[in-house]
Amino acid sequence: MSDRIPQPFREKSISVISSHDANCCNTARAWFESIDAAYCRKSDSRYPEWVQKEFSWKPSNWPIYWCEATQMDGFDCGVFAAIVRHLLTTKGHCVIPVQLIENFNEQNVINWESQWRQAKANTNWICDSKSYHEAVGVISDEDELNVWDPIDQGEITPPNSEGYGQVTHIRPIEPKHWTGPQNIIWEGQSLNLNKWQEATQQPVKESTDQQKQIVDVHSRR
Ligand SMILES: [Zn+2]
Repeated sequence: MSDRIPQPFREKSISVISSHDANCCNTARAWFESIDAAYCRKSDSRYPEWVQKEFSWKPSNWPIYWCEATQMDGFDCGVFAAIVRHLLTTKGHCVIPVQLIENFNEQNVINWESQWRQAKANTNWICDSKSYHEAVGVISDEDELNVWDPIDQGEITPPNSEGYGQVTHIRPIEPKHWTGPQNIIWEGQSLNLNKWQEATQQPVKESTDQQKQIVDVHSRR
């Protein structure tokens, strides 16, 4: 398994926004929380979709402090994921960081590399035609993992194929003070925390109606 994980992604740690031990960063977090509270009053979504509307996807130069994030007009996926994790945790959701590897094509990768190099940002999230991505996991009341992409604004599900933009590998990261199980279920697939695993689509269980139809078809032959 690990031989299929590009070397730069194997030990990659999750992005964490730093905090000055001072008012600046406390105020910055409160700023994000207050916009989020206003947004939540108007939205049906449990996810803070406003973050991606307010900030664009672009290179970030790490480390980043909370008080700096409020002054920027865009970030990389690690900053997006860290902000969204903070907001969801503040609202009482059970949140875990999720790392992903996705397939793209050579042209995307060349464009991204030049964009990131120009900004003097680290390009260690790109390797051949694969890219490292960070998303946000939320554990549901049924103990299942939902993975949300704070940039594409959608739930991430196992791939249909190894095609363009598809997730090939996933690693859910155990949060600090975690008291839950070491295995979590994502779309029918059991995942170990802190391990890269292939993202595989689980066979769809046929409903009783479908099974009955199949029996009917067979009995008519
Ligand atoms: Zn600060």
